[in-house]
Amino acid sequence: MDEILNPFAIAQAQLDEAAAVLQLDPDMHSFLRRPMREFHFTIPVRMDDGRVRTFQGFRVQYNDARGPAKGGIRFHPDETIDTVRALAAWMTWKTAVADVPLGGGKGGVICNPREMSQGELERLSRGYMRSISRYIGLTKDVPAPDVHTNPQIMAWMLDEHEMLQGHHEPGAITGKPLQLRGSAGRSPATAMGGLFAIREAAKLFDVELAGTTCAMQGYGNVGSFAHRLGHDRFGLKVVAVSDEFSGIYNENGLDPDVVAKHQRRTGRLADCPDTEALSNAELLELDVSILIPAAIENQLTGQNADNVKARVVAELANGPTTPEADKIFREKGTYIIPDFLCNAGGVTVSYFEMVQNAYQFYWEESLVQERLDYKMTTAFHAVDKMAKARGVDNRVAAYLVAVNRVAEAVRLRGWV
Ligand code: GLU
Repeated sequence: MDEILNPFAIAQAQLDEAAAVLQLDPDMHSFLRRPMREFHFTIPVRMDDGRVRTFQGFRVQYNDARGPAKGGIRFHPDETIDTVRALAAWMTWKTAVADVPLGGGKGGVICNPREMSQGELERLSRGYMRSISRYIGLTKDVPAPDVHTNPQIMAWMLDEHEMLQGHHEPGAITGKPLQLRGSAGRSPATAMGGLFAIREAAKLFDVELAGTTCAMQGYGNVGSFAHRLGHDRFGLKVVAVSDEFSGIYNENGLDPDVVAKHQRRTGRLADCPDTEALSNAELLELDVSILIPAAIENQLTGQNADNVKARVVAELANGPTTPEADKIFREKGTYIIPDFLCNAGGVTVSYFEMVQNAYQFYWEESLVQERLDYKMTTAFHAVDKMAKARGVDNRVAAYLVAVNRVAEAVRLRGWV
């Protein structure tokens, strides 16, 4: 049988496994298996050549029992409604495991931002907001950046939203530029949070992080910060990194300054000085202690999990590991820090951004980091404790913690 790679089928299968362990009430289980609300819309955009192209956009509000829906917007050529549903479900579990007072949502547009000019991207971003603004807001649903979206795109979206609503509402979108009331420390937050989780795992195993070998897949906002902070703050020896085209390797470790300079100059990692080329597939199978997938879903599958040599897989991407791969990792004893725990730092600082916007009072980056550390450390140990108490792996344990919290809110509201 072919492996199931539909992300929403995977997200549902993961929930089903947790529901069985929890002996979750069947009515609650069937409610939590589906998104509460979803929006499908077309976005007409005037292109630079004068023609109008119609893009397909989505926003899924998966569950808002614990607070307003929360989650990023992706611009990706392979976007599908099922991918957005899965990512929205994972946001629901992520905000619950991080224990921030928010629900889960996600948005997406089928497009290839690499082939679009800045003007086209601005018109697409504003068009997205025109379609969805009435369903977005501080108390309803709060978007943020994700794959191929960034603070500038958030700025255009916020401006469009505020123009339509007729008032300032900075907390309606997070991951904004600092000058538009973004939070200090938001850009590095996902990577930083993941490194705090890795640090806690290393303590459990009594392992020194300095000098530990590491390979990272993905060099967008998350991967590039993971390289820099992993190297500078934790002394990790990052021997390989990759972007969507190819990877680079140096057995003595890659200097983040050199890689960043090369990437800025050429737009790619390939041919970075002092490195050997390797493919994304080879990177995942390198003999390193820690593997950090920080790109997109379905990278570790039934096809390659057997060849993964890393002892620890820290999932900074959403959904990088399929259930088939999970089974293999369980048998091999690979230690997984599951995605919606490992990458919860981004949404945690997004929540801090909303708090700062609400009070119009802004924190130093050191305070953001201190509070992020506390949140990530608490979440990590809640999951570790659950895994030990129930004799399950970390992914199931993270689900048990999160589903319990969401189900409790649903029950208290009297929905199920
Ligand atoms: N896109 C990020 C994630 O997948 C952050 C979401 C947010 O800050 O709302 O966790």
